[in-house]
Amino acid sequence: MKDTIVIAGPCAVESEEQIITLAHAVKKSGATHLRAMLFKPRTTPDSFQGVGHEGLDWIKRAREETGLSLVTEILDPANLESFESDVIQIGSRNMQNYTLLSQVGDYAAKNDKTVLLKRGMSATLDEIKGAVGYLTTSGMDKTNIWFCERGVRPSYSGCRNTLDLNIVPMIQDLDIVDRVIVDPSHASGRRELVIPLAKAGIAVGADGLEVEVHHQPETALCDGPQALPPYQFDKMMDWVRAYKGAGL
Ligand code: PEP
Ligand code: MN
Repeated sequence: MKDTIVIAGPCAVESEEQIITLAHAVKKSGATHLRAMLFKPRTTPDSFQGVGHEGLDWIKRAREETGLSLVTEILDPANLESFESDVIQIGSRNMQNYTLLSQVGDYAAKNDKTVLLKRGMSATLDEIKGAVGYLTTSGMDKTNIWFCERGVRPSYSGCRNTLDLNIVPMIQDLDIVDRVIVDPSHASGRRELVIPLAKAGIAVGADGLEVEVHHQPETALCDGPQALPPYQFDKMMDWVRAYKGAGL
């Protein structure tokens, strides 16, 4: 069995104190990777866009102090060199940004980085295969590509998205990526649904989870309503460990 990946942390890095606090909290609960998002693709231009380069030293400190690998979303290939991220996230809004996919794929292939490709919010199976194809055509090996199901639209339940669990075993069967993980946070947009959907993702056979965690969700600058407080994340991890028999 492959080791289980658990990427956890805030939607966005907000301050040094915030990311260091959360890095230690999620590490203690058994996360393997830290969400270290410095640039945020927001729906409206007046929303918080991320701290940008200012946060680079903070996330490096978080990595040094906890040993967690960093997952950072890249919006602009110009930032690839400076970010030293261990896992480069391509967000849903960019799953079909073919120029970005090619440039990230080329960089990742040359620097032995992992790419976490999140499903476009209405992406079909063929579109997912095409996006993975851009990464491999740029020189990446599938062993360095992870795919994340994060819910699709429309949602008839009034939630942010609908978690499409069908895709998890389908992508695994295709054997085009190394891991298929589930993001129950963006899939629901609602804190009370995050743990049930995380359990569903693991039960369907996902290789891991990407979960938003915040110690002060009510004042979070981004996605507070879907953030688990650390004590709930800890409970979720107890369940994952028990289910998977994982040494997280
Ligand atoms: C994120 O994970 O930070 C994010 C913006 O999610 P998505 O791209 O799935 O909307
Ligand atoms: Mn978010």
